[in-house]
Amino acid sequence: MCIRCGEHETPLDRPYCVHCTFAVRAEVEDGLRKLGEYLGAWAAFDAWCAARRRSVASV
Ligand SMILES: [Zn+2]
Repeated sequence: MCIRCGEHETPLDRPYCVHCTFAVRAEVEDGLRKLGEYLGAWAAFDAWCAARRRSVASV
């Protein structure tokens, strides 16, 4: 039985039914995209902090 929908049978040794496999894959891809954006924002913030430290140190 599918662990996500609880309605459909799953292929042998698989946790999700065919329908949920595609849904979960889309959710994971979306999550990875959001994680990439999140980490990119932190990297930009780190660069901003480093630039600010340099400008403050030079004053
Ligand atoms: Zn399912």
